[in-house]
Amino acid sequence: MSHANYSLSQLEQKQDFIRRHIGPGQDEMNAMLEAVGATSLDDLIEQTVPQGIRLPEGLNIGESQTEADALAYLKAVAEKNVINRSFIGMGYSDTHTPNVILRNVLENPGWYTAYTPYQPEIAQGRLEALLNFQQVTIDLTGLELASASLLDEATAAAEAMGLAKRVSKNKKANAFFVADDVHPQTLDVVKTRAEQFGFDIITGKADDAVNHDIFGALLQYPGTTGEVRDLTDLIAAIKDTKAVVAVAADIMSLVLLKSPGEMGADVVLGSAQRFGVPMGYGGPHAAFFATRDAYKRSLPGRIIGVSKDTRGRPALRMALQTREQHIRREKANSNICTAQVLLANMASFYAVYHGPQGLKTIATRIHRMTDILAAGVKGAGLALAHEHYFDTLTVKVDDKAAVLKRAADAGLNLRRDLDGAVGISLDETTNRDDLNSLFSVLLGDNHGVNIDALDQQLVASGTPSIPAELNRTSDILTHEVFNQYHSETEMLRYIKSLEDKDLALNHSMISLGSCTMKLNATAEMIPVTWPEFGKLHPFAPVEQAAGYQQMIGELSDWLLNVTGYDALSMQPNSGAQGEYAGLIAIKRYHESRGEGHRDVCLIPSSAHGTNPASAQMVSLNVVVVACDKNGNVDLNDLRKKAEEVSDRLSCIMVTYPSTHGVYEETIREICDIVHSHGGQVYLDGANMNAQVGITSPGHIGSDVSHLNLHKTFCIPHGGGGPGMGPIGVKSHLAPFLPNHAVVNVETAGKDEGAVSAAPWGSASILPISYMYIKMMGSEGLKKATEVAILNANYVAKKLEGHFDVLYKGRNGRVAHECIIDLRPLKEASGVTELDVAKRLNDYGFHAPTMSFPVAGTLMIEPTESESKAELDRFCEAMICIREEMAKVESGEWDATDNPLHNAPHTLADICDADWNRSYDRNTAAYPVEAVRRNKFWPSVNRIDDVYGDRNLICSCPSIETYMEE
Ligand SMILES: *Cc1c(COP(=O)(O)O)cnc(C)c1O
Repeated sequence: MSHANYSLSQLEQKQDFIRRHIGPGQDEMNAMLEAVGATSLDDLIEQTVPQGIRLPEGLNIGESQTEADALAYLKAVAEKNVINRSFIGMGYSDTHTPNVILRNVLENPGWYTAYTPYQPEIAQGRLEALLNFQQVTIDLTGLELASASLLDEATAAAEAMGLAKRVSKNKKANAFFVADDVHPQTLDVVKTRAEQFGFDIITGKADDAVNHDIFGALLQYPGTTGEVRDLTDLIAAIKDTKAVVAVAADIMSLVLLKSPGEMGADVVLGSAQRFGVPMGYGGPHAAFFATRDAYKRSLPGRIIGVSKDTRGRPALRMALQTREQHIRREKANSNICTAQVLLANMASFYAVYHGPQGLKTIATRIHRMTDILAAGVKGAGLALAHEHYFDTLTVKVDDKAAVLKRAADAGLNLRRDLDGAVGISLDETTNRDDLNSLFSVLLGDNHGVNIDALDQQLVASGTPSIPAELNRTSDILTHEVFNQYHSETEMLRYIKSLEDKDLALNHSMISLGSCTMKLNATAEMIPVTWPEFGKLHPFAPVEQAAGYQQMIGELSDWLLNVTGYDALSMQPNSGAQGEYAGLIAIKRYHESRGEGHRDVCLIPSSAHGTNPASAQMVSLNVVVVACDKNGNVDLNDLRKKAEEVSDRLSCIMVTYPSTHGVYEETIREICDIVHSHGGQVYLDGANMNAQVGITSPGHIGSDVSHLNLHKTFCIPHGGGGPGMGPIGVKSHLAPFLPNHAVVNVETAGKDEGAVSAAPWGSASILPISYMYIKMMGSEGLKKATEVAILNANYVAKKLEGHFDVLYKGRNGRVAHECIIDLRPLKEASGVTELDVAKRLNDYGFHAPTMSFPVAGTLMIEPTESESKAELDRFCEAMICIREEMAKVESGEWDATDNPLHNAPHTLADICDADWNRSYDRNTAAYPVEAVRRNKFWPSVNRIDDVYGDRNLICSCPSIETYMEE
């Protein structure tokens, strides 16, 4: 049929988004179906997915929308948000994202589609940006060691409490002190965490901390109502009681103020948001976290460290990787996995671009404006709560309601929750007009304050609002990197030079099993940087956020439809945080029924490390359930373990399809066994990409799941974050969803605490998932799942005969990913899975997931977004590598002087005048023809992990290190 024969509505349908999101076209799909031995997608699904769990009816999401229509619709929704000037403060400030960073980092797929830098040879760019972030943190906090970003200030404070408990010498103490001028949302999150660990929280005036038997204390600097005070003596006195002192600090104020590290603090943490990252109604933002060198083994989250490569050149990688994060399972320090890397990079670039002088100018201007505001209101007879401040004033007012009314009428948001006072926080976007408006609101329209005159008086009198002893005297940002990219041309090229070192989805397929590195479509990304979404303060009155509320509401309804659950919380900022929130809901449910003694969590041996790490965070005892030789949960072992603990059984955490990449036939039985002992089923939703439209957690019989919106629902990985891990629950758990101390969340439990600083988590990236679902519709979402399964089975089929596929389900099918077993090959040839992973770089590919869930294997998840052509290219690379392994095995290639052992190869290798390898340069760098047309060069050779961990350096190396080369 020629195009002329289509009707208008058929032509309109052909312009939908589905065929853009899904990689293979119809002809490619037909060829792939034939290759795997299925007559149609339906037939393949019939063969693959157990009948017993198939959804009886389709999704109810509506029809696929074109990109243009969906964008127009969402724009109209976004415009319902009222963007007032925000002076609320409380840890969130408006900021100017430098445009060179906005366009070339935040809006650039080279940065936002990259994965967590587990393969450092092809990730030196973002590793350098993160190292810069650590340096910024170290300089501003005055401490020795920094990590590379946490989820937000409040969870960073909770992590500080955990660290304090681990390292405090006051072993018998069980209480943590939180000063009463800590931000309320931080206190809320810390309380939730403390309750789960069984710690007591004591609050009171900061000075009161010394009067309690505590293992740690949290102070805020400047305080939440703006006060700047010298904490030196207080910190010393608290430390005398053997307690650990953490200080939550404002990053911009630290540019001018003496650092908490210099005052003796053990931990300094805070949000890096106001370094160029939009408020976005709560996130995503990176938190910084610094501590003493002595506590490095207790540091939560990732640390970037300097090591060297096989050519002896400095090279970066994640340090202490094996003891890090969730890999230690229930012994982990925290469950942090996905953690705001993109936003940490933005903040570090902000510091690079402005440099120490630029930052001082910005901070000084903010402070000057605050001084002018203070002088003006004091001159008019109003009183301030504090004599010393940086950017925040607490102004005592007689008629608070009238002031707030005038502010609302003028389009200004002030802090409203203070007794007899309003709070006003200024930021780098504040200008003279704002000051005039604020004077009108506080003093009336005829206030008569002359800003310039006040300014001149202040210049003449000096700045007494920061006590002399609290002026920063130590240098900041002295490293070269912060002092050479201050013109836009230089900055542009610096960002580009780092981007070029990294392999992201805009170069080739990233087949990481369990990570679902699918298309992050441009139309999905565009709304993220609309000011209607970016400029909203998370604690703005809910009426001003009608657009957000509508978007969140519609998205929640769709996700409930997809998951088969009854209620949803958008609060958790990552999958692991979702696990934490879901387990809390389970515990609270048991408690509400008088069964608070249930304290055992069953976890199959194949589970992702965050599962046991999260269970540990809510004080559940992990009991491991065995898997059988096919990778399935061993039902006999499950029955036995469940019976053994029986009335102590709290829940099971199970992943579906299993982490082994198959649809377990017995999943319903697993749920039944656990339920029969009164336990709950937590179904880890990371693998929703194999469920959407075909089955669902609710339908299968589980009670709660998190969804990784940064996997299945298209939020990009950002080089290791942001992410969103909302949880869906059945109705009986709905009363236990997290709420928030500052903003009431109507769909949450009435008396529940918070798990994140912001009520709806990282709200500003929700438009990505929203756009995806809107553009795909019911039909597209289901088709995406089907093609994801087709692509995985096609890869498994093509690699068959070359590699063993470790686990298969019914009819020899895999789900949306497959595991190939390298152990027999390693045995025979000495070539390791690491060699294969690094050799893939030479072929222009990122390695699949390595040694998870089974050591010595690779887990490949192609996703529906990859075309047949790309899958073929990847399979060709894998098959060539298999042939190379055979050459090592047969002795044709030397056991170590071979391209696998020496991979990846760099330009430095190829240009080396002393090339003396037993193989030629072409074999090294251009192993197949396709690579010649599109070569990606790893920027360093293989990196020495052991050396890096023995000589832990987590700050920027001096320039001499690079010159020594
Ligand atoms: C990715 C993943 C998680 C953790 O998600 P984060 O967002 O990184 O915290 C948990 N479980 C499984 C199976 C995963 O693949």
